[in-house]
Amino acid sequence: MPDRHASSARPSSKGQNGVLPGMQEPSASVAVLLPLPLSHPYDYKVPAGMDVQPGDIVLVPLGKREVTGVVWDPPAVEAEAHSTDEKPEMVQERLRPILRRCAVPPMTPILRRFVEWIADYTMAPQGAVLRMALSVPDALQAPRPVLGVRLAEGDPSSGFKWTDARKRVISTAADGIAWSVADLALASGVGSSVVRGLVKAGVLEQVEVSSPRRFDLPDHKLDPPEFWGDQADAVARLKALVESNAFSVHLLDGVTGSGKTEVYLEAVAECLAAGRQALVLLPEIALSGQWLERFRHRFGVAPAQWHSDLTPGQRRTTWRAVAEGEARVVVGARSALFLPYGELGLIVVDEEHESAFKQEDGVCYHARDMAVVRARLGEFPIVLASATPSLETLTNVKNARYGCLKLHRRHGGAELPSIELLDLRRDKPTRIDGLGQSWLAPSLRAAIEETLAAGQQAMLFLNRRGYAPLTLCRTCGHRLRCPHCTAWLVEHRGRNVPSQDSEGLSGDLQCHHCGYRCRRPECCTECGDSDSFAACGPGVERIAEEAAVLFPDARRGVMASDTLTGPNAAAKMVQAVQDGEINLLIGTQVVAKGHHFPDLTLVGVVDADLGLFGGDLRASERSYQLLHQVAGRAGRAEQPGKVVLQTADPDHPVMQALQSGDRDSFFEMESQMRQRSYLPPFGRLAALIISSPVEADADGFCRDLAKRAPGYKGIEILGPAPAPMALLRGRHRRRFLLKTRRDLSPQTVIHEWIAGIRLPSRLRLQIDIDPYSFF
Ligand code: ADP
Ligand code: ZN
Ligand code: ZN
Repeated sequence: MPDRHASSARPSSKGQNGVLPGMQEPSASVAVLLPLPLSHPYDYKVPAGMDVQPGDIVLVPLGKREVTGVVWDPPAVEAEAHSTDEKPEMVQERLRPILRRCAVPPMTPILRRFVEWIADYTMAPQGAVLRMALSVPDALQAPRPVLGVRLAEGDPSSGFKWTDARKRVISTAADGIAWSVADLALASGVGSSVVRGLVKAGVLEQVEVSSPRRFDLPDHKLDPPEFWGDQADAVARLKALVESNAFSVHLLDGVTGSGKTEVYLEAVAECLAAGRQALVLLPEIALSGQWLERFRHRFGVAPAQWHSDLTPGQRRTTWRAVAEGEARVVVGARSALFLPYGELGLIVVDEEHESAFKQEDGVCYHARDMAVVRARLGEFPIVLASATPSLETLTNVKNARYGCLKLHRRHGGAELPSIELLDLRRDKPTRIDGLGQSWLAPSLRAAIEETLAAGQQAMLFLNRRGYAPLTLCRTCGHRLRCPHCTAWLVEHRGRNVPSQDSEGLSGDLQCHHCGYRCRRPECCTECGDSDSFAACGPGVERIAEEAAVLFPDARRGVMASDTLTGPNAAAKMVQAVQDGEINLLIGTQVVAKGHHFPDLTLVGVVDADLGLFGGDLRASERSYQLLHQVAGRAGRAEQPGKVVLQTADPDHPVMQALQSGDRDSFFEMESQMRQRSYLPPFGRLAALIISSPVEADADGFCRDLAKRAPGYKGIEILGPAPAPMALLRGRHRRRFLLKTRRDLSPQTVIHEWIAGIRLPSRLRLQIDIDPYSFF
């Protein structure tokens, strides 16, 4: 890592300089880790009279800037090894002093070790990981005090005029209590300028008042639901685990609708009763109003939330409330893992199989796996919940590394939906007048009509945004692709698309990878033919258009991440489905997650084969998980549900497993396949992605890297090869894939491989340990 900041301070190599905490000499120095892509802390001088301890958050100079960092305490071994490298006095001459300590609770030792652990594992610079833990710089400054006013002692200055308004204020304030200016004015029936005038005149004085609580305390004593059978067993086990307050990992494995959420909320209740904080991680997309409503139902108040839609103010408040212990339960997306909990005692990872937990840019980490590490460091239990657990977790259960709690049935006797495979080769969708090719087979259309006629709800699922995934010239076959990526342009015709021409025909073309947009050209850029472009294949908008023609009386709603605008759009849509205002819901994977729609009895999957392509080692596993989850939306209450999967390959193991409901055999088969080829979780993978705006530079660098590739027994290096997205946002991408045995560490191999290597400018090397996508 090039060290551009070396002039301002020197990388720390000797920890606390041998001085015990609390006993610093006037000129002692400490190591400070900065939230910048630096692999080590830097040493800073502690000014005389300042007392700093490891974990303290401090402001330090860096070049011409001031940066907030954390006083660090490198492991003792390292401090020993370097204790004699330079004369301390000489070093300290050159060190710059800490400017001040910030008024926030210090970063706990557990969080500091967590930062180091993740940096080691992901091979990211420590400072880059720290940045995730200090993601709200504003929260590090002391909050502005809340000021109130109360009656001052002594008399007003001479020349003070006693107006009626003033008298009224003074009589209201006679209780001696501190009022806010606005409240006092209101209670006295005057404008706030009158109150401010009295402050100026010295009749009222300003005082600091304690700020109101930012988060109400969840009430764990409210009545829980009644639990029987499997649920009762699971609740009892989880409560005992929380009570024991020791590290353990448990899978909460139950079909959709079996009550996993209700069950784990009891673990949260137990954790609250024990006086500790709890964290529930959800894939961002599942952070729905429905989940919050259930939390409120159980605990009387909303939990603190952490996700990408928070305003800067909410971020600041929440971060501090977590640090100060005022927020007792946090529900959040993966980054909630890095909040400054002082008393964390439980983590629940719901939908633990979700690939949304994997962060793929910046520091590449898997939040589920890091949550397990966090629980181990904090010595408390963690619960992973899913109806379709990941192969990783199932394998850990099989090897008895994780415990398992099973819920076998849907709550309230609801049956799992029946699953029908609709063979698209036999039951072919026909053409529709005025629309062209249909994407819904006749029997699925009939099933939808029947469901709607019976007063029930239906859902159509297609995991593809936009109108058409490909635009093709009918004359010459030219396909429109993104100029910056290896990707076709996707046509969008939705409401949010501004660029419709006068006939409303010309769609807007978008690249789903870089955001490039353009209008559909009038003439083909290859053959020059006009009006020759055709939209190929369906996106969810196209299915909506088809539904409008086929089911004109249905109350339709479309739900895709880009058709929902505004923070509450998704919640409103969900509410509309719950209230029956919508009876035909058409959507992408945003409809698949977590929602509970009692009257929804039919789910039609437009293209069940969609996720099976693309050379991803988890393609089958993921398809199974997603389709199972979508299917799980049907028949969650009294009426039985039915799921229709349109497929061109009904014999595929994924389709067969979905239909038979035999998850375990499917996973067993998948597991054996991976075991044979040493793929995760039976071997380890790491990806090295090299990218450059200049193709030849990327190739040249890869050739050099390939020459240095270490060759050991038990490791295999594939590549360099162009990544499937060989061009992304204008950068040419090449990829090495490192495959090792389970008992070897890809990190060690990579360290050795790239040690001392110089990255040419403009070239980027990204390391992804345990990669989940292979684009
Ligand atoms: P899962 O998380 O496994 O999909 P949920 O916890 O969402 O299952 O439960 C499905 C539905 O059944 C929810 O409406 C939930 O409130 C209800 N439910 C589950 N268990 C109970 C229980 N013991 N008492 C009352 N309602 C329950
Ligand atoms: Zn053409
Ligand atoms: Zn692009």
